[in-house]
Amino acid sequence: MPIVQLGREGRWTNYHGTGTCEAATRFALRSGDAERGRDELAAAAREVREWLAAAQAAGRHVRPLGAGWSPSNINIASHCWLLHTRRFNRCFRIAGDDVRPGVDAASLMLVEAGALVDEVSDKLEAQGRSLWTSGAGNGQTFAGAAATGTHGSMVAHGGIQDHIRAIQIVTPAGAQWVEPTAGVMSDDFIAATGSQAVRDDALFAAAQLPVGALGVVTALVVSSVPRFLVRPIQNLRRVDRRALNWLSAGEFRRFSAAYALDRDPDFVQMIVNPYKPFKRPAMLRFLYREPWRDDYPRATPGELGAGYDALSLLGRLLDDYPWARGWLLQFAMKLGYAGGPDVQDPPVYGSWGEGLDTHRPLADLFNASVTIDRADLAYVFEQICGVYARHGGSTVVTLRFMERAQGLLAPARFAHNAVIDFDGPRSQRTADAYARVVERLDAEGIAFTRHWAKSCNLDAARVESDYGEDFRRWCAARDRLIPDPAHRRLFASDVLDGLGLTC
Ligand SMILES: Cc1cc2nc3c(=O)[nH]c(=O)nc-3n(C[C@H](O)[C@H](O)[C@H](O)COP(=O)(O)OP(=O)(O)OC[C@H]3O[C@@H](n4cnc5c(N)ncnc54)[C@H](O)[C@@H]3O)c2cc1C
Repeated sequence: MPIVQLGREGRWTNYHGTGTCEAATRFALRSGDAERGRDELAAAAREVREWLAAAQAAGRHVRPLGAGWSPSNINIASHCWLLHTRRFNRCFRIAGDDVRPGVDAASLMLVEAGALVDEVSDKLEAQGRSLWTSGAGNGQTFAGAAATGTHGSMVAHGGIQDHIRAIQIVTPAGAQWVEPTAGVMSDDFIAATGSQAVRDDALFAAAQLPVGALGVVTALVVSSVPRFLVRPIQNLRRVDRRALNWLSAGEFRRFSAAYALDRDPDFVQMIVNPYKPFKRPAMLRFLYREPWRDDYPRATPGELGAGYDALSLLGRLLDDYPWARGWLLQFAMKLGYAGGPDVQDPPVYGSWGEGLDTHRPLADLFNASVTIDRADLAYVFEQICGVYARHGGSTVVTLRFMERAQGLLAPARFAHNAVIDFDGPRSQRTADAYARVVERLDAEGIAFTRHWAKSCNLDAARVESDYGEDFRRWCAARDRLIPDPAHRRLFASDVLDGLGLTC
């Protein structure tokens, strides 16, 4: 499993075209053909460690890359060595004697860091298992998605990083196998991966969400649940103001009964036009979990409502005709949103993985978010719509819901979270509107965090104040994982330095 160099030093642009690395030397870590996962990992750890030493000797910073999806430029670093991990993507079953006593091996899978969420999902489902949450797309690598706290809108769950039970991290000092204090994998297994066992809750909580600053993540042990089916309901409904109070209070059943089925929903998402949000129909999506059965009629991704791209296609139009913004957004929402399956349509079912989409590149995408305490939702929503009505900007506003996520730097840090996403065409006007939303929340004294992977204008002072004691714990964990400051600086970039994560 060699690390191979890809061409000469040059430019590299990330997948969605939001950032470019200048003078980057690109390398790829590729899977080998070892029969056992632990042997693959031992070889990868050796290779990556040597590669890091070579980068250091060459006086270059390094940047490990997943699928390169992040639009925040968190994956961008110039004059450095990039390590593409996408082809380091094998997944392995875990046997009963690979784990510590009391650990359910059948629920775990060993995943090489570059495996896509889609690939992990497929492998699990083939074994009768499933992820319990993920982002709306599945074209990210598992390690990259976890590195930034990716999430969806499963109302009773946290982020994708919550699936992680153990992590192999390589730095120039060697490979460390980081687990919670109680331990997960057997000593023999860990030794065979060429790593030193580090069983420590504080380090694990930092490593679950490393933001690319804690070394090269080479492997993960991912936990799963028995596979299940979801029944989607997707419709356009004019949402009543009072319904936002139900969402704020976590009365998802009541919301569902009013707009879809009178059942507890597992997933609730609302995409709304911030111009006259209560007069124009919102796009609602609900998922209802059902027990697995082999004979469910297979549906296409489109029938399951996976993916919605028309918003970005209409981006330029929105920017060119600002006076028609409200109407155009509504038109875009209608075009981009599959009609149904609504309540009266014949039900369709799919597994968790079937309802996700890998996405085409979204050129000229603007995408930002704030995560707030769900209790503040109704008030914050009014404030946000007020900002758009006064100052313009062409984004739709998406409301998603989740519980507190794991990882010290998880943006979903409230007990119950509402995540408000702003997606639309990239333009100065749209960026300014988001900046005004943030100003407004600050002026109102509303606590909120921002997504690591989106264009959220974060800086070091803000990261420190948003995460407080958890930020200090994360920094202390980083310094224990990578005690040598020169090794920590190897993972520096302008973006991560700006966030105060790589000092
Ligand atoms: C179309 C689209 C839809 C999205 N939908 C959602 C959504 O529904 N919910 C949500 O929360 N987010 C969403 N996102 C954000 C997305 O999930 C994150 O950007 C995610 O980090 C991308 O994963 P990646 O593999 O592309 O990582 P990259 O962008 O390649 O990297 C992200 C960070 O992780 C680091 N990293 C990656 N791999 C490793 C490794 N092996 N070792 C160490 N560090 C590593 C990188 O250095 C970088 O700092 C979306 C983004 C797009 C573009």
